[in-house]
Amino acid sequence: MAGGVDLRIVMLGPPGSGKGTQAALLAEKWGIPAISTGEMLRGAVADGTELGRRVEAIMASGKLVDDTTMGEVVADRLASGEAQGGFILDGYPRTREQVATLERILKEASVDLDAVLAIEVPKEVLTERALARRRDDDREDVIRARFQVYQEKTAPLLDYYEQRDLLLRIDGHQSVEEVTAAVLEAMAVEA
Ligand code: ADP
Repeated sequence: MAGGVDLRIVMLGPPGSGKGTQAALLAEKWGIPAISTGEMLRGAVADGTELGRRVEAIMASGKLVDDTTMGEVVADRLASGEAQGGFILDGYPRTREQVATLERILKEASVDLDAVLAIEVPKEVLTERALARRRDDDREDVIRARFQVYQEKTAPLLDYYEQRDLLLRIDGHQSVEEVTAAVLEAMAVEA
């Protein structure tokens, strides 16, 4: 495990919540990999792989890549050596079907999630942030599509994980450092 902390974490949050930033910072702190499905897919598109060509248009539209494809992407990555001592999953699961797939993968490996971190930011702030720092692919209609998909498909997962007693709600409307501190405090209280 190379001196890291053995933690298995899922990050949930709408586009612009800063969950990717926090995933990277926490991964560094805990010595475990941050696994971002968005980054993996963007990498595949940039490299022009078969996967990249398959997902390019759907990603550009702001919609979700199908659950079967995502299941394969995530299963491969979680089976890799680097994820054996823990991981932070950023961008997966995003649907109930993906939750079920993740549960199958973890059960197979005889491990459990330790926590699901929900980074919460008021809608107005998310809109401001989205318009302020746009990626190339972030057209306004695409931004709207992403929000809508999050509300419809991903937000319900918070209730699910709350019922499973895994959910930690984090106030994401603070500085990056304050959000990280809030996560560490919430994890310590939980432990
Ligand atoms: P965000 O800008 O919301 O943080 P990401 O970088 O996580 O988005 O992902 C970018 C795009 O990649 C998504 O809009 C979606 O098309 C695709 N994607 C990433 N993860 C998943 C997933 N778990 N299921 C389906 N599609 C995904």
